[in-house]
Amino acid sequence: MSNLAGRLYIVATPIGNLDDVTLRAIEVLRSVDRILAEDTRHSRRLLDHLGIARPMLSLHEHNEVDATQRIIGHLTAGESLALVSDAGTPLISDPGFPLVRACREQGIAVIPVPGPSALVAALSVAGLPTDRFRFEGFLPRRQQARRAHLEALLRETATLVFYEASHRILESLHDLVEVFGGRRVAVLARELTKRHETVRSAPLAELLEWVEADDNQRKGEFVVLLAGAEAGGDARSIEVDDLLSVLLEELPVKQAVGLAARISGGKKNLLYRRALEMTKG
Ligand code: SAM
Repeated sequence: MSNLAGRLYIVATPIGNLDDVTLRAIEVLRSVDRILAEDTRHSRRLLDHLGIARPMLSLHEHNEVDATQRIIGHLTAGESLALVSDAGTPLISDPGFPLVRACREQGIAVIPVPGPSALVAALSVAGLPTDRFRFEGFLPRRQQARRAHLEALLRETATLVFYEASHRILESLHDLVEVFGGRRVAVLARELTKRHETVRSAPLAELLEWVEADDNQRKGEFVVLLAGAEAGGDARSIEVDDLLSVLLEELPVKQAVGLAARISGGKKNLLYRRALEMTKG
């Protein structure tokens, strides 16, 4: 069955610089019967640049469950297909998982054509340990869910990696400082492989100040990397809420916040807001 069926190639494409496409990706994109793309108009620009004209089908997060059955039909009829996303490696915070799972369940060959991914590009230049890392993709949009999500990661010792969009980078950095404290070292990797590529490593509080002070540092696409907690736990991995609640039992709000800021390295105004929420609660 599987050698009669077509093949599905999962093809990585550039994350900015159009030259970052492999020779094999070009060859595969040129030879398949159809190209499945997250946004056909977007991918056509890359294909035009490469001089490739193949029929296209769209596969995006809103149609991927329905489209999967249709695509399986093409594959079982013997067609070879290539899946690309808007940028980087498909399935990495991008559509394709239901399709790949369905193909594997049905014995249809799924073949990787590896290449760029913002995750690996950022890790390779961040200067943080890469022997163990934990990819968290995009954080939840709503602040309450985002903070709860971050709090659950507080004691993670592996390097943490997040994707973030320009309109939420500031909010996310605020929450990172609040949860992890301003002293935890982080790296902001912005616009990798593009004209305004910027990679900056600093304690979280400093990164936040820098991004707050310069609009340009909020533009484009981001990978945020965070040093893991020290194994066994140290002062930097104290949960800010725990710290504040102990101090608030003994001291007036202002003093508790001042001490919490010194111990955790967090920003006073954020800690003050949190202290007020806690004392009201
Ligand atoms: N599949 C892609 C990959 O392999 O990296 C990721 C797709 S995800 C929808 C888009 C997110 O990836 C962006 O919001 C950003 O967080 C990150 N990203 C993509 N390109 C980037 C770049 N050139 N520089 C920094 N981050 C990038």
